[in-house]
Amino acid sequence: MKYAELRNYVGGDFVAPTHTRPALDVYDPSSGAIISRVPLSAAADVDSAVQAARAAFPGWSATPIKERVQIFFKYKTLLERHIDELAALVTEENGKIASEARAEVLKSAELTEFACSLPQITPGEVLEVSRGVECRVERFPLGVVAAITPFNFPNMVPNWSIPNAVALGNCMILKPSELVPISAGRIAELLREAGLPPGVFQVVHGGQEAVEAICDHPGIAAISFVGSTRVAKIVYKRATSNLKRCLALGGAKNHLIVMPDADREMAATNIVASMSGCAGQRCMAASVMVAVSETDHIIERMADVARAMVPGKDIGPVISAAAKERITRYIDEAEAAGAKVIVDGRKTTVAGKENGYYMGPTIIDRVTPDMRIAQEEVFGPVLVIVRTPDVDGALAIENASPYGNAASVFTESGSVARYVMEHASAGMVGVNVGVPVPREPFSFGGWGDSKFGVGDITGRGSIEFWTQSKKMTTKWNREAGTNWMS
Ligand code: NAD
Repeated sequence: MKYAELRNYVGGDFVAPTHTRPALDVYDPSSGAIISRVPLSAAADVDSAVQAARAAFPGWSATPIKERVQIFFKYKTLLERHIDELAALVTEENGKIASEARAEVLKSAELTEFACSLPQITPGEVLEVSRGVECRVERFPLGVVAAITPFNFPNMVPNWSIPNAVALGNCMILKPSELVPISAGRIAELLREAGLPPGVFQVVHGGQEAVEAICDHPGIAAISFVGSTRVAKIVYKRATSNLKRCLALGGAKNHLIVMPDADREMAATNIVASMSGCAGQRCMAASVMVAVSETDHIIERMADVARAMVPGKDIGPVISAAAKERITRYIDEAEAAGAKVIVDGRKTTVAGKENGYYMGPTIIDRVTPDMRIAQEEVFGPVLVIVRTPDVDGALAIENASPYGNAASVFTESGSVARYVMEHASAGMVGVNVGVPVPREPFSFGGWGDSKFGVGDITGRGSIEFWTQSKKMTTKWNREAGTNWMS
């Protein structure tokens, strides 16, 4: 094993959990090799993390925000200084190719940059509401909070929550995905190096049992969750039934509406990049292309672009053998139901990496909206093409999906673009953009089954989620009767 069995990070130190269940193997998806083992923490481990966070909270929350963010300036510098090493770690445990892994770490730096601006954008409000009477609103942290994260962005998704929640004065427990747990330990080390006091940030490894303990622990005030819709629903229900604040981001089924007037080259390259980037394991990945009227010229070009991709160089492996089997089953089933596989990545292998979980980009035409592959999240490098005669038909298909993470339209027409932006039922909408991720300071968050809870997870939207407001009224006026409430 390249890395020793992982430990939790509690109170500023790496500690062995009290787990009683055997640790899980951690795989390099490009080779199938075991690179580490991750412990499965129990409720007692969550409790010791909460106790450490609770002990740190009075000192951390009393530290002025301008001082707190100085640590995040340093953390951002450390992310940039260590980008090669951090990106290599992401590649090792998640499989994504080097350029994708670097982009992920750069995005973490951008998220941290936003947190550094929080003192500038979170001053309170004050108004003299009556002579000598002032109302003011100030934001206060919630206390001990938690973030539960998925496998597809081992560095970035933890950083959706950590810099903002912690800079706003909370103490945090991160429960990373057990499939990609190694980056979390490096994040903890860099935060420590940046000067974050012990107990302000914890890492608790594990799976379902640790998540349930987080949802149930009375000492945790709020939880951000990112993962599949199935688990997002479980976590949201359990956390809120325990009277916690919860924002749970779920899965996706993103529709790209392609009009016949779309720029052929730009649309084809963007759509293929969207469906195949990170091996299709992005919640913003193109999943369904809704081809409006005559778009064969674009589809033919997409097929050429996809066929030219070299697995192992241009596209990394999917996360596990089980994921590869699941994705293959979806394709087999669609083909058996009459769909036409025009680019087939099922039989992909990479020389020298025969045990890796590689799949090539796969494009399936003549899919109908009733097929399972058109409705469910496949989470692999697979794009299905559903055909429809007009833009209203395309919007009806998009609107019928219970998910609502992202949608995009490719067109040269401003009025069609505007029409789709207004009528798509998704929280993030693009025009001529394959992956319409909002960048800081704009917030990230979907609609429908792609997000449960109020607010968004990044940018300005996260400020409300990670804080509570205190409304203060003062009267420094000796005159009697100046205020009808006095
Ligand atoms: P997942 O739901 O399997 O796991 C997410 C987290 O939940 C992990 O930390 C895992 O340990 C924990 N977990 C798993 N099963 C659990 C259970 N039964 N009870 C409690 N906790 C449990 O998700 P994943 O496979 O790691 O990630 C891929 C999914 O995440 C995809 O559906 C993808 O669309 C979604 N995702 C969504 C967004 C978004 O912004 N909406 C972003 C990234 C990923």
